[in-house]
Amino acid sequence: MLSLVCRNTSSLYVHLIAWVRKMLTIIQIPVLTDNYIYLVHEPLSGETAVVDPALAQPVLDILNEKDWRLTCILNTHHHWDHVGGNLELKEKTGCKIIAAQSDRDRIPGINAGVSEGDIIMLGACRARVISTPGHTSGHIVYYFAEDEVLFCGDTLFAMGCGRLFEGTAEQMWSSLQKLKALPASTRIYCTHEYTQANGRFALSVEPDNPQLQQRMEVINQLREKHLPTVPSTIEQELATNPFLREDSLALRSVINMTNSKSVEVFAEVRRLKDRF
Ligand code: ZN
Ligand code: FE
Repeated sequence: MLSLVCRNTSSLYVHLIAWVRKMLTIIQIPVLTDNYIYLVHEPLSGETAVVDPALAQPVLDILNEKDWRLTCILNTHHHWDHVGGNLELKEKTGCKIIAAQSDRDRIPGINAGVSEGDIIMLGACRARVISTPGHTSGHIVYYFAEDEVLFCGDTLFAMGCGRLFEGTAEQMWSSLQKLKALPASTRIYCTHEYTQANGRFALSVEPDNPQLQQRMEVINQLREKHLPTVPSTIEQELATNPFLREDSLALRSVINMTNSKSVEVFAEVRRLKDRF
């Protein structure tokens, strides 16, 4: 009898948590020319995170409007357009700042350094840290597996990937392999609205990809109305993102690399995009 009660209670708890996880609220704040800041709210605990606050004021305005208290900042990397709001937000809300341990010296106000495999709890929701060097040496992304959400900063973009400022093509390729392996339904929240320009380049290396052609039509319509094209999904990226399609025979034949290694094809696609 007792065990039945326990089982019922725990299954009720599991359902409650599942329901809460579906309720994870994400608010996308467009700032600067093409950046996105993300507010992530877990309603059961009331805990709220902000991912890559380029600026403080637009975040403070929404916290105020929603009556949310900021629990933590999650930084993906040290660039100013991802950490610019750190110190003001920390000072005004008392939040903790979480970022890569290896970037401790260049993340303003950092409280906790994390690395590959570390778990961060936002109320009932769990994020795993994945290390993705390439754009910068210390770049990390935050993966909420149960919520099927990835905050990937400047590593993976819709139809693109970050420029190689501090890492090698080999490093970025390995980082992208980790993201490629995530479930297809994972929603990809990247930090820049670069999709339309990325798509034009993607078409230059895969002009006959029907899914890419269709996606570009949708993207063009959205941008005409100044609407965001982010988030996308891993499934969409696998079908259309040239930086995840180094094994596509059509793409390889366009760039004359039919027999090259995957990482070499990736490196060449990245070089071509830099000159596009
Ligand atoms: Zn960056
Ligand atoms: Fe950036």
